[in-house]
Amino acid sequence: MSSQYISRVVETVKKRYPGEAEFHQAVTEVLESLSPVIEKNKEIEQAGILERITEPERQIIFRVPWIDDAGKVQVNRGMRIQFNSALGPYKGGIRLHPSVNTSIIKFLGFEQIFKNSLTGLMMGGGKGGSDFDPKGKSDNEVMRFCQSFMAELYRHIDADTDVPAGDIGTGAREIGYMFGQYKRLKNIYHGILTGKGLLYGGSLVRTEATGYGCVYFCQEMLKDRSSGFDKKNVVISGSGNVAIYAAEKAMSLGAKVIAMSDSGGYIHDADGIKLDLVKKLKEVERKRISEYAKEVKSAKYTEGCSGIWTIPCDIALPSATQNELDEAGAKTLVKNGCTAVAEGANMPSTPEAVKVFLDAKIAYGPGKAANAGGVATSGLEMSQNSQRLSWSFDEVDAKLHRIMENIHETAKNAAKEYNTPGNLVNGANIAGFLKVAKVMIAHGVI
Ligand code: NDP
Repeated sequence: MSSQYISRVVETVKKRYPGEAEFHQAVTEVLESLSPVIEKNKEIEQAGILERITEPERQIIFRVPWIDDAGKVQVNRGMRIQFNSALGPYKGGIRLHPSVNTSIIKFLGFEQIFKNSLTGLMMGGGKGGSDFDPKGKSDNEVMRFCQSFMAELYRHIDADTDVPAGDIGTGAREIGYMFGQYKRLKNIYHGILTGKGLLYGGSLVRTEATGYGCVYFCQEMLKDRSSGFDKKNVVISGSGNVAIYAAEKAMSLGAKVIAMSDSGGYIHDADGIKLDLVKKLKEVERKRISEYAKEVKSAKYTEGCSGIWTIPCDIALPSATQNELDEAGAKTLVKNGCTAVAEGANMPSTPEAVKVFLDAKIAYGPGKAANAGGVATSGLEMSQNSQRLSWSFDEVDAKLHRIMENIHETAKNAAKEYNTPGNLVNGANIAGFLKVAKVMIAHGVI
């Protein structure tokens, strides 16, 4: 029975990796939706695909010593989980945040396998990071950390092996320092990271890609309900890379973004968020979102993050971090008339919250589909690097838009084929998984 096979694999993962709650959550969520696929394709169990796909191909954990501005040695833990290379070089970001541990990086790496598969580009899944916190550090401290991090990581990555990217805490500055150190150590100018600066191999639209892509995906869900962004009120959690560009695209489609947040709290501006000010505060000055309310009279700042979901809205785009939207938040959103949720962040909704959205039959786009625009554009950056060419903004944006339409269509069709029409969680998991499983079978037992 497929369900017994799935339970057995989930139990093995829990036993092998005790205490890794986020990883267990991601594995359970994906595997539980695969039951009809495993029932229909008996060779999956025979070939041990679930056992293999839940065990990373390689896990690298290393010490990252660096010297702070006071001359004291600091030590962080670095890691890179090379999860699955069936479809191409490992691809996934580097997260720099004090909460980083093996559970979080493994959950992200696991999700990345299916997300990358959905993009239709040839990319395997991986993720990396460190418990280093760039917040409050000087540029020199960040540089010394990034150089030390790459002094170990460079042995394990290459343009055709593993190509990391940015994630929480890893923006253009960090990517630049890491790229410089790799080049120095290897004496080679390869596209070994994506999210690079435009002057040295970066792609136009990469900065905007995840946020724009999330809105494009949401637009497709809304189209199916004869709706769109025009004149809709939108709540977006976070005020980082994903959130800012999701807001920009939503506004350009006629929506009003009325709330944003950071890890300290959220701002509610019923007149519509002034995005230029948010960009200045977060991208340039690296300040707190609370500063916004000091400068804008119509805005109110509230400490704590979860209250953002109590603000009535038509569309919610959770774009901060994992498990930021729980059952109570989901119920409040639905009760207040929210009709669409598209996840800019990875796994921002708890399993209980996802159930609320699915039961209420509102449009719900899970992160691995809705936020795949970032990695898709990273894939386009790799293509440009291989060609030693740069495409125009409009060219990359048009490709991104098409990829997001395709991901939506693919997930929608898979959901229908496996008898859960409209359930894009099942659809995205099934479509992403099937392609990887077929290739793993083709590659033999490795
Ligand atoms: P950034 O570091 O640019 O921004 C993260 C935002 O989330 C900040 O506003 C931050 O607030 C807030 N935040 C971080 N931790 C918490 C927390 N524990 N509680 C509440 N808010 C928090 O990251 P990104 O925008 O790049 O990433 C956001 C999400 O999107 C992540 O889940 C990431 O994995 C996912 N993602 C990102 C992609 C990309 O291309 N960047 C691609 C696909 C997914 P503060 O400033 O206070 O830290």
